[in-house]
Order: sequence, then structure tokens, then C-alpha cells
Amino acid sequence: MSQAGEQGTLFVISAPSGAGKTSLVAEMLRQDSQLGVSVSHTTRPMRTGEQDGVNYHFVSRDEFEAMIAEGDFLEHADVFGNYYGTSHAWVRETLATGRDVILEIDWQGAEQVRRLVPECVGIFIVPPSAEVLRERLIGRGTDAPEVIERRLAEAEEECRHAAEFDYLVVNDDFGVALADLLAITRAQRLKMSVQQLRHGKLLAGLVSRD
Ligand code: 5GP
Repeated sequence: MSQAGEQGTLFVISAPSGAGKTSLVAEMLRQDSQLGVSVSHTTRPMRTGEQDGVNYHFVSRDEFEAMIAEGDFLEHADVFGNYYGTSHAWVRETLATGRDVILEIDWQGAEQVRRLVPECVGIFIVPPSAEVLRERLIGRGTDAPEVIERRLAEAEEECRHAAEFDYLVVNDDFGVALADLLAITRAQRLKMSVQQLRHGKLLAGLVSRD
């Protein structure tokens, strides 16, 4: 239960596709019940195995543009020709309960969030080498060469922005990368500014013998 004034931390996680971000975040959520992930809105078509309201809220371009006009998004961006955006209300309400929130978004969205919420914590995940990334993006060799080239170019563009984040996690060994991510969220919760809100009574009680 959140105490009065307690506010969760906003974590912004970005990565080139092929870095393993989505699987890592899913495992973080399983292991840490204090974390919640924002389900973005998108105009891109649903992929096989995806569920509306679970992976994304899938909406039309008209619906998305109406939401932009209403000021519903904390951030939104055009990523590879489709709109993606984060619900402002959900993030605000979840942080107010004292839970921490993860945004899995691209570098353009991260830039907007950093401007609006300067105290957010940015994490960038990379694969262990350019070769591994290339292999993962090429996959089983069923995609056309121009599709592969576009994916590589997009991944490179994302990686150009790595230095704008607070933390860098290398996903070579999944377990190590996961432990690194959980260490970052845990250390953030132990910061004095956060702990003073959570343990204000304890700290006051320890210095009350004047
Ligand atoms: P995908 O379509 O493969 O799920 O995601 C494509 C890209 O869009 C990824 O880089 C992902 O992080 C990004 N993305 C997903 N949701 C959002 C969002 O709400 N805002 C922004 N700016 N990017 C997003």
C-alpha cells in the first residue's frame, strides 16, 4: 500500500529490436510485483500471437489522431511508419499508487519523457555485438534483403541514442542482463529521496530524543 506522498519511479527502457528487451521486461515483471508496464497504443497491425489490450491497444490512425488531439499521450512517435503512444492517465495513476512503471518505447519517445519527467530513469539494452544483432535480425533467412537492410538501419539509428540513457545493459547472458535490470530498479528504490517518503516515520522516530 502506498503512503501519502509516495510516488513510484518511471523507468524508460529502449533498445534496438533484436536486443531481447521484451523478454527481459516480461521476466522483470514476473519477479518484481512492484513493477508495472505500460501497454502502449499503436496503429500497426496485430502480429500472430498478440492480444489486444495485452501487448498493445490496437487502434486505427483516426482513433490515434483523436487521442493526440485530446492530449491523451504522455509521449507518442512515428516508429517505422506506425504511430505508438503511451497513455498519460495510466502512467500518472499507477505512479501515484507508489508502484514503479516501465515504458518500453523508442528513443524518440524517451526524449519526450525525459523532457516532461526529468527524474525518470533511462535504461538502454544492447546485444553483445553487431554480429549477434545482425544474426538475430536476419533470423531464418526468409525475409527479403531490403527488409533485412531496413531492420539493420533502424537498429543502428536506435543505437545512436544509447548515450542519452542513464544505464547500459548488455544482453549477452539473459540471466546476467535480468539481474542487472533488477539491480537498477532495486537501487533506485533505496535512494534517500525515495526512502525518506517511504520510511519518514522510522527516520523521525530515530531522532526524537531531544
Ligand atoms: P514493435 O512494433 O516491434 O512492437 O515495436 C517497434 C518499436 O516501437 C520498438 O522500438 C518499441 O520500443 C517502440 N514502441 C512501442 N511502444 C511505444 C510507445 O508507446 N511509444 C514509443 N515512442 N515507442 C514505442
